[in-house]
Amino acid sequence: MDPVARRIRELPPYLFAELDRKKKAMRAAGADLIDLGIGDPDLPTPPHVVAALREAAGKAAYHRYPAYEGMRAFRETVARFMERRFGVRLDPDREVVALIGSKEGIAHLPLALVDPGDEVLCPDPGYPVYASGTRFAGGVVRSLPLRREDGFVPDLPDKGAKLVWVNFPNNPTAATVTLDFYRRLAGWARSTGTIVASDLAYSEMVFEGEPARSFLEVGADVGIEFHSLSKTFNMTGWRIGWACGRADLVAALSSVKTNVDSGPFEAVQEAAIAAIDGDPACVARMRDVYRERRDALCDGLLALGHDVIRPRATFYVLCACPSGLGSVAFTARLLEGAHVVATPAVGFGAGGEGFVRFALTQPVERIRQAVERIARL
Ligand SMILES: *Cc1c(COP(=O)(O)O)cnc(C)c1O
Repeated sequence: MDPVARRIRELPPYLFAELDRKKKAMRAAGADLIDLGIGDPDLPTPPHVVAALREAAGKAAYHRYPAYEGMRAFRETVARFMERRFGVRLDPDREVVALIGSKEGIAHLPLALVDPGDEVLCPDPGYPVYASGTRFAGGVVRSLPLRREDGFVPDLPDKGAKLVWVNFPNNPTAATVTLDFYRRLAGWARSTGTIVASDLAYSEMVFEGEPARSFLEVGADVGIEFHSLSKTFNMTGWRIGWACGRADLVAALSSVKTNVDSGPFEAVQEAAIAAIDGDPACVARMRDVYRERRDALCDGLLALGHDVIRPRATFYVLCACPSGLGSVAFTARLLEGAHVVATPAVGFGAGGEGFVRFALTQPVERIRQAVERIARL
């Protein structure tokens, strides 16, 4: 008898086993792969943040169980940041909770809000955790299509749901929205009785045009928002983020968390405070780095005649597959023919078919080299 629960057995099939096998075999055979596959920054965490952790790690007070909801100093820092950056005023005691990386909170939110059978609108293509978290809670995933002809911004359906996920700047499409979209979304949420969950992991990664806005600027009465230090400060390994927004939604998520974890290591929260309150120059430099890489990849691929969508945010670049090739087949061709690793966008949902996603997580010289190799395909 299979000991594994239905919720695990019924997870969508993993599409890339064959690609992964090829990649591993090629690496083992000594191939020099240029990996633009994963959205994990290659740059180190800024030194002042590492120094803050080093110092905090020695404090015995931090060696004990953390407060479930996060240190007050961390939540106050978050509240100050949200006001300074977005003009959003939050009560650090009722409207902010620390997360062990925003993925943790995103996965747990449905357990807090969704009853079995409730519908959750999940962007397609989209970050897979929205759908898996929904399924784990017994919710029903309803697709919210993101289409290229609409700039990958969803049409709001007539019928609401228990919860809708939005994520702008977006992974994997790199699309952004204006405050006007959030205004429409908030109005729609009020009239349909839907709760909005906004994933703002890439809020500081806009390198052209207007900075990203927060849904809470116009929808604090119907929403909760997820923030992360992972991409902004190259801290994916540290596991720290926060959720903020309407007090009852934050409280419900906190109730889940008090039952499954005990909050992030307080020394990491201390380092996160140093990051959020520190000199923002490191964030500006990070944006410069990604802009240069974006230009190298997009200019290169455009010159080769590829239909690449030039992003103004995130570190992702979506490229349409040449005609006749599917998402997985084009990825395999890039891997085998050019030794370049990309991600088939169909892995983010059926709506990603026809595209591959490049992550700008290699030095610009390596990205130029990847373009040269693709040119010889
Ligand atoms: C990277 C990413 C996150 C951040 O995850 P952490 O758990 O905070 O590291 C959240 N949402 C999306 C869409 C992402 O791409």
